Amino acid sequence: MCDCCNVEGRDVRQRCGDGSLIRTARLYKVYVGRVASIKLCRLCDIQLFRGGESRFL
Ligand SMILES: [Zn+2]
Repeated sequence: MCDCCNVEGRDVRQRCGDGSLIRTARLYKVYVGRVASIKLCRLCDIQLFRGGESRFL
């Protein structure tokens, strides 16, 4: 399950199709001195990559 879609109430299967890859991404700006790991589906992963970490949050 994609954490981002989960928060926004999206259905990952509907959005990305069955068997879509879930990737674990690390966010370094969420907590000071801590790394936050989140699971992202392919589309959210692309969104993060294009928008940058701070805009994504
Ligand atoms: Zn997602």
